[in-house]
Amino acid sequence: MPLVARSGGHSYAGYSTTTGLMISLDDLDSASFDASTGVVDIGGGVRNSEVYGALEEAGVTITHGRCPTVRAAGFLLGGGIGFNMRLFGIASDHLVSTEVVMADGSIVSASDTENGDLFWACRGGGGGNFGINTGFRVRTFPADSRTYFWLHWPDASERLIATLIAALDAAPATLGSRVSLDTDPERPGGSLKLIGQIAGSRAEMEAILDPVLSLGAPGHNEILTVDYWAAESVLLDTDGPFFFQERSRFVTDPLGEDFAGFALDWMRRWPGTGESGDLVLFQTGGRINEVAADATAFVHRDSRWLAVVAASWAENDDDARAERALAWQEGFYADLGRFARGGAYQNFTDPALDNWAEDYYGANLPRLRRIKRAVDPDNVFRFPQSIPPA
Ligand SMILES: Cc1cc2nc3c(=O)[nH]c(=O)nc-3n(C[C@H](O)[C@H](O)[C@H](O)COP(=O)(O)OP(=O)(O)OC[C@H]3O[C@@H](n4cnc5c(N)ncnc54)[C@H](O)[C@@H]3O)c2cc1C
Repeated sequence: MPLVARSGGHSYAGYSTTTGLMISLDDLDSASFDASTGVVDIGGGVRNSEVYGALEEAGVTITHGRCPTVRAAGFLLGGGIGFNMRLFGIASDHLVSTEVVMADGSIVSASDTENGDLFWACRGGGGGNFGINTGFRVRTFPADSRTYFWLHWPDASERLIATLIAALDAAPATLGSRVSLDTDPERPGGSLKLIGQIAGSRAEMEAILDPVLSLGAPGHNEILTVDYWAAESVLLDTDGPFFFQERSRFVTDPLGEDFAGFALDWMRRWPGTGESGDLVLFQTGGRINEVAADATAFVHRDSRWLAVVAASWAENDDDARAERALAWQEGFYADLGRFARGGAYQNFTDPALDNWAEDYYGANLPRLRRIKRAVDPDNVFRFPQSIPPA
């Protein structure tokens, strides 16, 4: 009987769903911090929000996302991105060890000193490929105060977008940001939003944004220094429920005014739904790029941004409306290839990718396939985009 593991069930492509046997990790839901080692022990089925609770109590943090219901297993196995990634690296860069139930039923530990190939694969090789991970040990960092920022410009212009991107691109790795162009049913055409955090002062953040703020005041401008977990609670993503599909590409070259014009042009073409069309730029670079592309299975080590084209629709949008939104997304995503030639993020699983294995794993694919052959020769752990044995 085919089987899949499920932790948070957040696989965009539904790869933790099966008509065979679904193995739920629900009961492995503990998260505890060991002050003597600075390492947090995370069960294979723990929700992000529960991990955050344990970290907050201990006054520490890791690289984490904004969604409280994503679970740690899928997040860590595919890399794990969040506002701390430029400062600390992606989440899986700080994995110390993981316990895995293998295809033959054995239970092994993988770390730098035991089952090194499997450990390499568990840092970016993606969930569901090599076994079922029942626990993770992750190195933490002190949760110092953060300056969070939340700015919104209702009418985005080419100059504003290009100036903002250039200002963020030149900022130190202490900054983590997410820039988005969004539509809404009342104002199709694109508004600009910037959110994120800096391990630094409000004055430092204002200096970074000075060229942007001098172009005109945003509609909303919130820049505040607070305790670490207070900042995270403001930045938490509690949107929904609605339907959405996201498609990603890593951007390696600088993005200038031609990109801003291109993006606005596509935003103006949004066909409209009860939700929105978005272009999101997650700022990468910093510590992520200081790790060699072959040091772990996470290969994307030369980018500035992770660009995502998202289409969302509401329950009362009929199929035709959703189809028009998806056609817009397909056109925008294909055209984005002019500016974004890197691969795709394996945690934003995208069933529409033609060359998904190369896009997710690049030059690390041959080694991943050899490891797959060694640990799961009969391909027990498989789904439409699972790594095939060599
Ligand atoms: C609303 C939302 C917000 C998100 N935000 C972020 C973000 O900020 N940063 C980021 O990096 N990603 C983010 N993601 C993507 C997310 O990291 C991936 O979807 C991740 O795979 C989800 O893990 P899961 O355990 O919740 O999902 P699941 O669907 O349960 O699992 C995902 C895959 O991993 C496999 N798997 C699950 N548990 C295990 C296990 N214990 N051992 C081995 N394989 C397993 C599954 O079979 C499936 O193939 C977001 C996704 C959503 C839907």
